[in-house]
Amino acid sequence: MDTDVVIAGAGPTGLMLAGELRLAGVDVVVVEQLAERTGESRAGGMHSRTLEVLDQRGILDRFLAVGQLTPVGHFSGLWLDFDGLESRRPLPLMLLQDVIERLLEEWGTELGSRVRWSSAVSGIHQDRDGVTVELRTAEAARATLRARYLVGCDGGRSTVRKLSDIDFPGTPATMTALLGDVELPDLPEDFIFMRRCPGGHFSALALEPGWHRVITSEYDRVADRDEPATFEQVRQSLIRLAGTDFGMRSPRWISRFGDAARQAARYRKGRVLLAGDAAHIHYPAGGQGLNLGVQDAVNLGWKLASVVRGQSPESLLDSYHTERHPVAESVLHNTRAQAALARPGAQTDALREVFGSLMVFDDVNRYLRNAITALDIRYPVDGFHPLAGRRVPDADLKTPDGTTRVYELLHAARPVLLDLRGSAELAAAAGDWAERVDLVEARSEDGHWALPAVGEIPAPVALLIRPDGHVAWAADTGGFDTAALRNALGTWLGPAQRR
Ligand SMILES: Cc1cc2nc3c(=O)[nH]c(=O)nc-3n(C[C@H](O)[C@H](O)[C@H](O)COP(=O)(O)OP(=O)(O)OC[C@H]3O[C@@H](n4cnc5c(N)ncnc54)[C@H](O)[C@@H]3O)c2cc1C
Repeated sequence: MDTDVVIAGAGPTGLMLAGELRLAGVDVVVVEQLAERTGESRAGGMHSRTLEVLDQRGILDRFLAVGQLTPVGHFSGLWLDFDGLESRRPLPLMLLQDVIERLLEEWGTELGSRVRWSSAVSGIHQDRDGVTVELRTAEAARATLRARYLVGCDGGRSTVRKLSDIDFPGTPATMTALLGDVELPDLPEDFIFMRRCPGGHFSALALEPGWHRVITSEYDRVADRDEPATFEQVRQSLIRLAGTDFGMRSPRWISRFGDAARQAARYRKGRVLLAGDAAHIHYPAGGQGLNLGVQDAVNLGWKLASVVRGQSPESLLDSYHTERHPVAESVLHNTRAQAALARPGAQTDALREVFGSLMVFDDVNRYLRNAITALDIRYPVDGFHPLAGRRVPDADLKTPDGTTRVYELLHAARPVLLDLRGSAELAAAAGDWAERVDLVEARSEDGHWALPAVGEIPAPVALLIRPDGHVAWAADTGGFDTAALRNALGTWLGPAQRR
């Protein structure tokens, strides 16, 4: 084998996955078709749960240092209120995708992963022991890499998905959006957000000093996906919608997208897995795609590492599909709803007014913001405790050595058995997994923990936290069900290793 895992694509998903695998000591090569970074940015920010995930790895400060926290989030252009969001990181961070990718790559490089540029996956052959990945490299030379697993993080038009014959069912585009990063000297306001017009809507968003991002959305026109978008198309579209081009000039980047929504029928086929846009595409309303991809990577990374190390059976990888497929499905669902709410016309205007007045109600606002921020995810793990399957809150803890937070315990991406009562019984029950789990004794600083979509619950007395920050098992003051704990340890960390 040349390496344990080949990752196709050095976008946010592939780079996050590379870091996760390196933290677990897995050998990884990222292959990227581009010769170098383009500096282009589709996404402009990250939401609460992604910020928490970066915090869990101890790298959030790098992103906070260069981005801007803003209380701005929306559902189809209708403002969401983030006040009272049950997270230490409630506000979205505005940061261009290019910067996010550079910071993730820097982190991966520190951990020992490398990106092979000018290397496009062009062929895949998998057998019982591994995958042979054919690459088209610079000067059209051919090369191969042999790995135990291949993960396609190669975007919406994923070659890995197509070569693996994985279906991509969904709904086709019904509109065309054109995007241009340009100078707009005649724009009368600082910015315009989703201004509605008879044919669709347009935005002019301040990007950097002197630069705006123009996005025009026109309905019931679907462009040929393979025809390159041009500056003139953006200009003409803006004139159709706004009646002016605001003096638009100096295009830095022109692109096009639509509201097609599709999802891979399976996220794993033998030794090939899919993550990020390779597994799901949708209308970018609410800014969820990059977040979804980074969170796919964090769900998959530790599972793949455990299988590569021989600790867990291959079947653990199926839980990646079981857990993440429904999450993307519900994002596709909410973006379809947002696309419908953005269509032009008097009926949609009325629907938006009704929807907007409903969003004033706390419960409605909370439901939508929990969905957009991905804080409401609950994976189907065994157990009835309200924390089971949910992301663990970042509670303040007191340890024998001082104070800490739950997320600081997850920096090494290892499972944590958190003992909040001091019980020898817990350590004894987990003894057969002693080398695979970090046993931490602490006290919760708060008597109650706040959970999105649930509310306040009494602080638990013990928790098994997976490396992705989701709770695999939890116990209340009523006592431990040690059989359930051992069952959870076996499910997520692999069979017991008798000492
Ligand atoms: C206008 C717009 C605004 C958006 N805003 C947001 C936002 O604010 N927040 C948000 O969360 N999301 C947003 N998104 C979505 C976000 O950009 C994507 O979901 C995200 O880029 C997906 O990351 P990825 O790593 O899965 O795929 P990509 O970013 O597409 O990366 C895939 C990589 O794989 C490489 N590749 C492709 N084929 C091969 C091959 N055969 N071999 C090797 N390499 C290959 C590509 O060159 C690329 O570098 C937006 C999207 C659009 C269009």
